[in-house]
Amino acid sequence: MGLVKPYNIFEAAQKQFDRIADLVSLEPAMREFLRIPQREFQFSLPVYLDTGETRIFRGYKVQFNDALGPTKGGIRFHPQETMDTIRALGMWMTWKCAVTRLPLGGSSSGVAVDTHNLTPKEQERLCRSFVRQTAYNSGPEWDVMGPDIMTGPQHMLWMLDEYEVIHGRKSPGFITGKPVGLSGSKGRKEAPGYGVMIAVREALKEMGIDILNTTASVQGFGTVGRYAVQLYTQMGGKVICISCLNHTDHIAYAFRKKDGIDFEQIAAITDQFGEIDKERAQEIGCECLPGDAWIEQNVDILIPAAMENQIRLDNVEKISKQVKILAEAANGPTDPDVDPILNQRGIKVIPDILANAGGVVCSYFEQVQSNMNYYWSKDEVLGKLDAHLTSAYFDVSAFAHKNNLPLRDAVYMVAIDRVARACQDRGWV
Ligand code: NAD
Repeated sequence: MGLVKPYNIFEAAQKQFDRIADLVSLEPAMREFLRIPQREFQFSLPVYLDTGETRIFRGYKVQFNDALGPTKGGIRFHPQETMDTIRALGMWMTWKCAVTRLPLGGSSSGVAVDTHNLTPKEQERLCRSFVRQTAYNSGPEWDVMGPDIMTGPQHMLWMLDEYEVIHGRKSPGFITGKPVGLSGSKGRKEAPGYGVMIAVREALKEMGIDILNTTASVQGFGTVGRYAVQLYTQMGGKVICISCLNHTDHIAYAFRKKDGIDFEQIAAITDQFGEIDKERAQEIGCECLPGDAWIEQNVDILIPAAMENQIRLDNVEKISKQVKILAEAANGPTDPDVDPILNQRGIKVIPDILANAGGVVCSYFEQVQSNMNYYWSKDEVLGKLDAHLTSAYFDVSAFAHKNNLPLRDAVYMVAIDRVARACQDRGWV
């Protein structure tokens, strides 16, 4: 029996790119230039533990393409972090900034670490150590990080502080996702999840479906999942299932309540890692099912908001016939091999680089505010976010209709074309 090749997220991202490059007959040198990162870094991060021991973590940074402007990307802490994950995220971020017309390139950063096992002081030392390795290869005019999996406002603030100490000046535009009141933007924490539901709202309007008659099932209840659920329920939709990872049991559970999960109730029993308390969820009337049950619910909208590679050839058939929209809140949740099946079934896929772009759009707003040291009201931020994302959605949806393309192909074509033109106009390729 032959060995099964493990899933490689960067190969999946390149496969998506290659398919579109074929469709638009991208010139060979441009194709070669755009399918690999412009720059990448790997480094060791020694961290003193509170016990007096030292542990060495591995850090990664990829500046994928900066033709459109300074690169922007999340920093994630994850035990299974690899250079290839960071390469894929950097590539997707490049397309994400292009499709939303931000004057930014794409990057990504990460550390292979499980922060559940580190005290706050140890996490602070890790954040500072990361910045010490990258402070001369990043900055407001070069490469700007923001939060991603297992990183939040406090991590961003420690990193900013270290950067400012190293450079001897205040540079609040160095990083985004900072605490509000300490050069963070109002609305930033809500933005990625709200952005998902702004795209869903527009898709439902196009399909002539009233949001009040819809139901959804969500995988993941962290930064993105939580606020997607909040806005969706505010708009009148009903979430009937949410799954998350349980760190004590090391497995995922799905919590289902067929008559709808109350957002405030479930948020109140969820920790900072997006883990819902299993016992208390049952007390508020949720059934506790195996983690993968989120995908097989009879709902109209599926929202993967956890990890990559969650919808695959081995589970796509579990998706209910009722599902009309798959909104990719996470980065890379769908194996590219599954796309033809979803298209054939008539499921509208709102691709990650559009669906979860609310995070980077609001990060851009935060950069602008930080660089001016002038901060906007929450209504102003969220109003601008809505206008910006709605217009990005209209752009690509019109292109998709005109050319009779699935939304994913349209989004990729528009994004790759914009980046390729910028590389050409700069005289690079
Ligand atoms: P997070 O760490 O805040 O939350 C992750 C959630 O997923 C948690 O609820 C966790 O329990 C759950 N989870 C993890 N593995 C799971 C599994 N196997 N089954 C079920 N649930 C599982 O992360 P986040 O910031 O919300 O990011 C989620 C996704 O969205 C990632 O793909 C990330 O790259 C992407 N994203 C994040 C942002 C951002 O600003 N945070 C922006 C755009 C995209």
